[in-house]
Amino acid sequence: MKVRTVEFAGSLFDAGAPVPGDLPQVAFSGRSNVGKSSLINVLLRRTRKKLAYVSGTPGKTRSLNFYLVNDRFFLVDLPGSGFAKASARVRQSWKVLVEEYLVGEPKLRGVVHLVDARHDPTITDLEMVEFLAERGLPTLVVLTKVDKLKRMARERTVATAVERLNIDEDQVLSCSAKTGEGREELLTALDDLIGADESGQNEIGP
Ligand code: GDP
Repeated sequence: MKVRTVEFAGSLFDAGAPVPGDLPQVAFSGRSNVGKSSLINVLLRRTRKKLAYVSGTPGKTRSLNFYLVNDRFFLVDLPGSGFAKASARVRQSWKVLVEEYLVGEPKLRGVVHLVDARHDPTITDLEMVEFLAERGLPTLVVLTKVDKLKRMARERTVATAVERLNIDEDQVLSCSAKTGEGREELLTALDDLIGADESGQNEIGP
């Protein structure tokens, strides 16, 4: 897939509120600081004009943010879990918002769950991946910031993710927002999730 156009299409703050359109959706999840904003920006090639809302604006980081890509699908940025400063009540409300979306959104084609390659997957990562598997939602695990690891450590990290998260190796992708590694593979994987037949257009030219 080539990314031609990207537009911010709106935010969802409340469970049950309508999503901004009727196109397929792919959601990105992961705890805060995992590198989600950086990866989304690199993926959508918006380096000058930052697209994803990087922390600091509490209202924005607690909503689901929709980006319309190529007028074809929505990339949905889910709120990052693990804000230590948030109260239990606020954390619970994010959880409800995200879970209701993941359970109830018929246009959701799959989820890309991000894990920092330098750390073992946490129990929260496992819960998320199991939750998605139970619901039969296609899941891709992206190991972020792999530029920080040497080859041996990278291989070990992939093996650990496969084992701890109980997934297949072909569900794991190593990426770096710093070097752009994994970008093309991730775009291809998104294409597969969305389904080529839904686009109504061919991928010709730059
Ligand atoms: P978010 O909270 O998940 O959106 O994380 P950010 O995208 O804001 O990134 C958190 C921190 O990790 C920032 O300091 C980034 O510069 C850094 N970071 C993100 N992606 C990468 C990467 O691929 N490589 C390296 N070396 N650092 C990264």
